[in-house]
Amino acid sequence: MRNRTPKDQLQRPIRDLRISVTDRCNFRCTYCMPKELFGDDYAFLPKNELLTFEEIHRLTKLFASLGVKKIRLTGGEPLMRSGLPGLVAMISSVEGIEDIGLTTNGLLLGQQAQPLYEAGLRRLNVSLDALDGELFGQINGRGIKPDMILDNIKLAKAIGFEIKVNMVVQKHVNDQEILPMAAHFKEWGIPLRFIEFMDVGNDNGWSFERVVTKKEIYERLREVYELEPVDRAYFGEVAKRYRYKDGGAEVGFITSVSESFCSTCTRARLSSEGKLYTCLFASSGFNLKRMLRDGTDDDALLSAITEIWESRMDRYSDERTEQTVKRKKIDMSYIGG
Ligand code: SAM
Ligand code: SF4
Ligand code: SF4
Repeated sequence: MRNRTPKDQLQRPIRDLRISVTDRCNFRCTYCMPKELFGDDYAFLPKNELLTFEEIHRLTKLFASLGVKKIRLTGGEPLMRSGLPGLVAMISSVEGIEDIGLTTNGLLLGQQAQPLYEAGLRRLNVSLDALDGELFGQINGRGIKPDMILDNIKLAKAIGFEIKVNMVVQKHVNDQEILPMAAHFKEWGIPLRFIEFMDVGNDNGWSFERVVTKKEIYERLREVYELEPVDRAYFGEVAKRYRYKDGGAEVGFITSVSESFCSTCTRARLSSEGKLYTCLFASSGFNLKRMLRDGTDDDALLSAITEIWESRMDRYSDERTEQTVKRKKIDMSYIGG
């Protein structure tokens, strides 16, 4: 197997692979899978269209040989894919993979945290957009209360997971929750990351006016807390991090809209049906599953992946305008966050 790290047209290496293990979800977040569009009759992928764990394992080995070091499992809701601890164990054994994380809405974590930990998973990002029960229930579209997620976070922390909480902030929807969320997770010693609302997919009613920027969030926090910046931990780190001067956990900002970070973007994405995307805002992907299932050997797969990466020029967030926002894109629940 070849072993060299391809660089794309903007000299970015490939370092991270985000793997969506299912397109299904038990939530209907208004900004991701609005229930009006993802209703009871929505046609999710049939099981035989999903990549099998063996196929994901094989691709992970190939990507690792090209320089991928970090894997993030996502979805849809990844905990809805049965047998997930088995996949974690398979990925953990791949040479060159140094880090595996999982992004989840946390609802099923109560049953799955222990087996996932035993399989080798250590890092969890749990998405939670509000502490107010009514509001959170509205945002997740299923009336699910935050207490269940909070209990599961507590449980996962007690098991030993390193946890971060992600909050997507939308103007006039949950921006009043910024300070309560900060106070809560500061007390719990869990890093909270504020994510600027993005124009992913086509159906979430996004507009520039609905984005609460890092600057605005930072200013609200500064009215209450003293913060100091934390140095970037590695090339391509997405979150801009700050620590509370009086101790407690950090806060971070994912500034995809106000301070884009395409120049250091080293992430590839594999959809649940095996298509490779080189940008979260892509409109099409490359069908690796077809190659996996028609008997293509590893060398030919590696050549295909290398060629895709080497021709990559994506820098959507750097170029975002009122016009680009209208382009047809892939849904977030399909490609993974
Ligand atoms: N279901 C899991 C979850 O919610 O954590 C994993 C998949 S979800 C698509 C991954 C992340 O993307 C979540 O943190 C979610 O809040 C975030 N997300 C989804 N749509 C978004 C949007 N329009 N803007 C910003 N973040 C978004
Ligand atoms: Fe599901 Fe996550 Fe999308 Fe919410 S953000 S609908 S939990 S995939
Ligand atoms: Fe990477 Fe595309 Fe996001 Fe830019 S817009 S940071 S290229 S995923």
